[in-house]
Amino acid sequence: MINYKTEEEIELLRENNMLVSRTLAEVGKHVRPGVSTLELDRIAEAFIRDHGAVPGFLGYNGFPNSLCISVNEQVVHGIPSDKLILKEGDIISVDCGTIMKGFYGDSAYTFAVGEIAPDVQRLLNVTKEALYKGVAQVRVGNRIGDIAHAVQEHAEMNGFSVVRELVGHGLGRNMHESPEVPNYGAKGRGPLLKEGLVICIEPMINMGDRYVVFERDGWTVRTRDRKPSAHFEFAVAVTNDGADVLTTFEFIEGIQGGNA
Ligand code: MG
Ligand code: MG
Repeated sequence: MINYKTEEEIELLRENNMLVSRTLAEVGKHVRPGVSTLELDRIAEAFIRDHGAVPGFLGYNGFPNSLCISVNEQVVHGIPSDKLILKEGDIISVDCGTIMKGFYGDSAYTFAVGEIAPDVQRLLNVTKEALYKGVAQVRVGNRIGDIAHAVQEHAEMNGFSVVRELVGHGLGRNMHESPEVPNYGAKGRGPLLKEGLVICIEPMINMGDRYVVFERDGWTVRTRDRKPSAHFEFAVAVTNDGADVLTTFEFIEGIQGGNA
């Protein structure tokens, strides 16, 4: 069953996702060689709590931290660690959630650590563009498959591959609501987009083949071929005027000068 949101509920979701956007920017200020992913997690948790919210991922299905931080070949759900020290040339996908006023925020951004290789930068650019292509399909009367197809087409046209095992989702009083929002599929298929639907669109795009491995820690998902993977995520409300994006990367890109 899909829960359609009222305007008031969409504003609470916006508050949450704006806090996630600011938290990601705060994390972004500290992304540099020599920093551990656990330090970034601590910064995010303090920032979220200082702004009157609770980390959305902490304790979710037993997840031990506030952020999922996935480095290089890790796709998603990486566990922050004081032993995982960032190096020049790494990329890190930072996924962040909040709970405030009974609703969730959930958005993600992949950062470059210092200078990265041009082909890795292209993976980041294409994955972010694929997200924007998906958002451009958000309008009343379109279907989830229109979003999915747009994301897949952009990624594959650029020689990259789409992870199938993990998908986007509805967002509300729960972090994962119906419907699923895959990053692959056929135009004109799947649930209809109606006013009040709020979804997370979150392409996970691999440089090599699309296959992933679930690590024995019970969380981390990595590429089978150990080539890099990128992940960007927006929360988006469907309105009669089109997509109302509840997340922004402006705070991040203000800091990074468009580098990431
Ligand atoms: Mg997320
Ligand atoms: Mg999500």
